[in-house]
Amino acid sequence: MVGLERVFGPVFSRRLGRSLGVNNLPGKICTYSCVYCQAGRTARLTVERAAFCDWREVVEEVDRALRAVGAGGVDYVTFVPSGEPLLDANLGRAVRAVRDLGVRVAILTNASLLWREDCRADAAEADLVSVKVDAASVGVWRALNRPHPQLRLSQVLEGLLEFSRGFGGTLITETMLVDGVNTGGLEAVAELVARLRPSKAYISVPTRPPAEPHVRPPGAAKLVEAFRAFADRLGEGRVELLNLPEPPPPPPRWDPVAWLTSTASVHPLRLEHALAALEGVVDDPWEVISRLESEGAVEVVEYSGARYIVRRVGSAASDGAGPRDPAVSTV
Ligand code: SF4
Repeated sequence: MVGLERVFGPVFSRRLGRSLGVNNLPGKICTYSCVYCQAGRTARLTVERAAFCDWREVVEEVDRALRAVGAGGVDYVTFVPSGEPLLDANLGRAVRAVRDLGVRVAILTNASLLWREDCRADAAEADLVSVKVDAASVGVWRALNRPHPQLRLSQVLEGLLEFSRGFGGTLITETMLVDGVNTGGLEAVAELVARLRPSKAYISVPTRPPAEPHVRPPGAAKLVEAFRAFADRLGEGRVELLNLPEPPPPPPRWDPVAWLTSTASVHPLRLEHALAALEGVVDDPWEVISRLESEGAVEVVEYSGARYIVRRVGSAASDGAGPRDPAVSTV
């Protein structure tokens, strides 16, 4: 079996179908440190783009994974690292090369760098771009997304609007609701999303272990309120709630340990889903997971009554801003 480090899944995504994930960053490197992030607190908070990895190697891994999965085995190759994909200065090149393999490409971005022309150009290479729109006010944005101090919300929103006007592919939005943090003032967020004219606006809630333990999904009444605020402005057919855990992934098609660790670093796996996926692939799935846990390669954590396998990847360096305490960053 081949060993792949930068490619994970495929996982089932309700937005994208069978999604083969690409992690084009070597650790938790992001412009934000969202309180709900399933990859943990941001180890390197930065707004500087850089060539974090060899994009040709990334494309080569995608090619090998696509061969292992088989023709037609994925709906999208998705750039969804444990951080912000547009920080990768070679993202546009990598996306173009992956599309040349004959697959559709998606990028899931927090949209914080779309005010930059080079980032808009790189994002526009994809067939589908999902942009994060969690907040319309500076206070909520800082409390929830904990952005790099050099970022300005007005600039981020202008970049988003400009990208939405020029992008010829499929644009979708994702709004994560965290109880008590952005569940008030949703009309303004819905107005903003409507101005972007996405083909679909997704409203999601934290279903996997978050960076901060106080993060909770809102109750049913708030979800309905949010849905109505969005549907009134976009039409019911263009709004979807993502409030249930995703279905289990298919069994790994390459080295099961690499599959497990690379997937868990970006996409926490429900323990029972991981056990089911490894059944028949390794002799004793429990033994593999226990060994990885005792080696410190993964952690098993509990969230909302379920157990998840996570891999919290860090990065040695920080460009000075560093992760911040949620209490300090709440404005
Ligand atoms: S949720 Fe996305 S944008 Fe927020 S810290 Fe995690 S990787 Fe960055």
